[in-house]
Amino acid sequence: MGSKVRVLVHDIGGCEGCPVSVIRALPELVGIADVHSRYLGNEDVSGGVTYDISVVTGAVCINEPDVVGRLKVIREVSKVLIAYGSCASVGGITRFCRGGQEPRPEHRTYQPVTAVVRVDYAVPGCPPAPTFIASLIKSIVKGGGYFLKLFSAVVKARKLSGFDLLDDVVLPGLCVGCGACILSCPTGALQMIDGKPDLVVEKCIRCGTCYVRCPRASQLLIRRYIQLGGVKG
Ligand code: SF4
Repeated sequence: MGSKVRVLVHDIGGCEGCPVSVIRALPELVGIADVHSRYLGNEDVSGGVTYDISVVTGAVCINEPDVVGRLKVIREVSKVLIAYGSCASVGGITRFCRGGQEPRPEHRTYQPVTAVVRVDYAVPGCPPAPTFIASLIKSIVKGGGYFLKLFSAVVKARKLSGFDLLDDVVLPGLCVGCGACILSCPTGALQMIDGKPDLVVEKCIRCGTCYVRCPRASQLLIRRYIQLGGVKG
């Protein structure tokens, strides 16, 4: 990949926290990326323009053919596609959509971007810290690094939550009690009890942030989906 990559940032239906996270990373990307977004007024998803890296935020409302079609065009014109944020990568709070809810009561079927088109990297977070996208783009440009393995494993996982953290790390006795998961949770759904995290289930929005921040769980993700060739177990 060349020294300055063309990057598209496109939101397909979220709270806008994730695009703002990317915009906040712009100072770190000067000299590395040429960024296009509607916030900067220079994006084009008509299909005639190609991008080295596209960053898509938000979940896909599959009741909206226009949204699904636009996402497919972005996939076609992008060498690398990143699902950025929990809604795009693992569903997040949109997993709870049932219809009859404000602000779009007629829409009830949302899927993460990873379930609709081929994605190269998925970054959970509600929203992820700007340093994540800056580090990931730098890793892609350099062609290696821990981030690439971890976030390509998340693509294959497709859903992650505090329940998975408990099942995979805490209950099997793999937790080292570092507290990284508790600090990362955007809703305060994890609390330390007797040196181990426990989940306040009503507060978990299935964002998956705790899972990728946990040093034990992130290694499990890589082992299950990358090093073992996609076999979960
Ligand atoms: Fe335990 Fe992982 Fe949470 Fe650390 S981040 S306290 S190892 S579950």
